[in-house]
Parts: sequence; C-alpha cells; structure tokens
Amino acid sequence: MTAALRLAEAPAPQPVIRVSDLRQWVYCPRVAWFTLMCPVGKVESYKMRMGRMKEDRLARLQKRRSLHAFRLHEGTVHDNVRLHSERLGLTGMLDRLIWQEGRAYPVEVKFTSGPARLNHRVQLAGYAMLLREVYRVDVPHGYIVRLPDETVDRIDLDAPLMETTNRLLESLREMISAERAPPPSPIQGRCSDCEYRNFCGDVS
Ligand code: SF4
Repeated sequence: MTAALRLAEAPAPQPVIRVSDLRQWVYCPRVAWFTLMCPVGKVESYKMRMGRMKEDRLARLQKRRSLHAFRLHEGTVHDNVRLHSERLGLTGMLDRLIWQEGRAYPVEVKFTSGPARLNHRVQLAGYAMLLREVYRVDVPHGYIVRLPDETVDRIDLDAPLMETTNRLLESLREMISAERAPPPSPIQGRCSDCEYRNFCGDVS
C-alpha cells in the first residue's frame, strides 16, 4: 500500500471540543456557534460578570479543602485539573477533583439559582468521560456547587446522562462539520442578557 493510499484511508482528525463548549451547546446552540465557528466581539453581559465573580469565589472555596459538604469523610482534593483526550476529542479544566478509594468525583462550581440544569449536568458528564478515559476509574457521581450560597447538588453520572451527553457531543460535531449556524435558543429569556444578542438578528 502506498503512503498516499494509507493517507487517504486514515480517518479525518476530529476537532477537539472543550467541555465548556458542550455546556454552551446545551444552553444555546448559537452561543457554541459564535464561540467555535464565528468569533465576534461580545458585549459584556451579567453572566460574564458572574463568571468573574465565580473566579474569586472559586479561589476562596479552593482554599477550604473540607469534604464535609460532599458527605465524604476522606479523600484527596485537586483543584483546576486539566483533562484531555485525543481519542475522545475532548478537553477541559475541572474546578475540583476528589479522589476517594480509587474512585473519582468531579466538582463544578456555578453561579446559578435553582437545581442543576441539563447544561451543568452535561458538563459534569463530559468531565466524567475524560476521567474514565484518562484514569480508567469509576466515576459514579459528581457535584455542582451552587453559588452564592454553596448549595451542593449530587449528580448521578449514570448511563442515561452519559448517553444524552454522547448524543449532544455528536450533534455539536455535526454542526462544526456542516458549518451551518444552528437555530436560536427556544428559550427567549436567555437572549435578553446574552453577550451575542447584537449578532442574532432573528431574536426579539
Ligand atoms: S441572543 Fe439568544 S439565540 Fe442568540 S446566542 Fe444569545 S441566547 Fe442564543
């Protein structure tokens, strides 16, 4: 077989997707489109200001290494853990990783009200995929810490959530490969404080 033929048969490399892009894809597909395919100058939104506040709160939280809030008594804690897999085409930085008895528990910190939403749960599942792939460990569940009151939601990283996450990852890859702008978010309330609102001509 010639080198040219081998090259022709090799699968095309898949783009590496950040777990945070997957979260945005669930929140509003257009946000992922602007981030990945069509970078534009954003207007600072309330969410972005909250993002900066999160960095401050996260740094303070990370100084406290207590596992009490997670109902775990022992374990080691690592903060800002970078995870990457070429095979999965996935990368990201996890806010906190807890190890206990050979199991891994991802933790994400969010400025949000109400119970953890699908975009947050999918983000946690993306990190679970990476942890299972990189460390070959059991990742039974993870946690979302909700700011400002530090409420902790335990999220089961079970088969239905992992299947949903795989499907969403696949659909994000399809959007990238088709290079076609997705429809706007069906939840209009998300548009009122969106950093991309000026670029979405079809939302009111
Ligand atoms: S303005 Fe609305 S549709 Fe456009 S990117 Fe923002 S949330 Fe999505």
